[in-house]
Amino acid sequence: MIIIENAAIATVDPDGTEHRNGHVVVDGERIVAVGAGPASVPPGEHTRIDGTGCLVTPGLVNTHHHLYQWATRGLAADSTLFEWLVELYPIWGRLDAEITHAAATAGLARLALTGCTTVADHHYVFPRDAGDQIEALVTAVTTIGVRGHLVRGSMDRGESDGGLPPDNLVETLDAALLGTEQAIDTHHDPAPNARIRIAVGPCSPFSVSEQLMKEAAELARRKGVRLHTHLAETLDEERQCLAEVGCTPAEYAEALGWLGDDVWLAHTVHLAPGAIARLGVTGTGSAHCPTSNGRLGTGIAPARDLIDAGAPVGLGVDGAASNESGGLGEELHQALLQARQRGGPQALTVRQALWMGTMGGARCLGRQDELGSLEPGKLADLALWRLDGLRYAGITDPVAALVLGAVPDVELMLVGGETVVAGGELRTADEAAIAAQLRAASGRLR
Ligand code: ZN
Repeated sequence: MIIIENAAIATVDPDGTEHRNGHVVVDGERIVAVGAGPASVPPGEHTRIDGTGCLVTPGLVNTHHHLYQWATRGLAADSTLFEWLVELYPIWGRLDAEITHAAATAGLARLALTGCTTVADHHYVFPRDAGDQIEALVTAVTTIGVRGHLVRGSMDRGESDGGLPPDNLVETLDAALLGTEQAIDTHHDPAPNARIRIAVGPCSPFSVSEQLMKEAAELARRKGVRLHTHLAETLDEERQCLAEVGCTPAEYAEALGWLGDDVWLAHTVHLAPGAIARLGVTGTGSAHCPTSNGRLGTGIAPARDLIDAGAPVGLGVDGAASNESGGLGEELHQALLQARQRGGPQALTVRQALWMGTMGGARCLGRQDELGSLEPGKLADLALWRLDGLRYAGITDPVAALVLGAVPDVELMLVGGETVVAGGELRTADEAAIAAQLRAASGRLR
């Protein structure tokens, strides 16, 4: 067993139980005890970890990313979303499985070092002859040792059909559906302790045909997997949607079968009050990506209104080409700042921000029974944050230190009871080698 003692604990359970000084006991891949004071365990060869000066939380859940974008960071630095996409599409057109593997490995390493144990990656660029990019992503997830929810994305609406991407970057409708079905059949694991799940993810209304949106939803439901897409990210998207189909992106999504408790949507920045209510009633999740929204100036998502409406809301880094830092820890802080800028000082508490980054994300991915909180029986995905240095000196509330302060070093991160990070360092792969491979891949891509 692994026994963590003498640590502050924020369980994020339904009662919000916290301990100033407590223990977490892990046996195999699951948590077997959480409580105040020292652990009581039968004698045996246990690994004891002294959590003095640290806070234990559930591992963070990243609900939206594009790991391949680690190879194209720092470009189109001052552009709107549509300008940024138009500059980056031709570069992404040269992606191959090797570059995607190098970028994903780097992105996942960075996420692990910021306390993230589960990652939803939305991959939607499939140039011809690029090799098996889904396999490359699966390999990277397995190497770093986190859980992956790999969204097999797609685009079938190029410039000649009024879409935004160049024609050579889109697939045919049939190829997109076939590739998605193959990814599910090859990699999707429905087991409760799954390390890899596949979801269905046409990219966005401005890069995907109506028919692909509809048929992708039918495919996902036939296969029993979840659905993900970008929606209502910018006013440009809303204007285009109103001009083309006479309704807002949220109304369009609902008409195509894209609201439901098996769907989570990236961004949802521009929603009318009626749309917020519909997301709540249908249980449709939102992946809130505050830093990316700020980088591209798209607006501030109504995260608190969505939570109040009953919709699951999780946090997302979004692709590293619009969030160069690529860490999830800072999104706790950014989500809180943006919610308060939009709704005033009471709009989001530090504990609600932590909930979004853990249980809210687990709900978006349909993993709330296994992930998102520290409770006996749940999978042992957790982060031990070091809070005893100068950066947090004198802050008595450890959750406030985590959410309001600088992102702490991760003293220990477990995924399914296995050590991924220890002493602030990645233990599953070599950081310097990963950085060298990313540098070479980025150079080759550009
Ligand atoms: Zn995105």
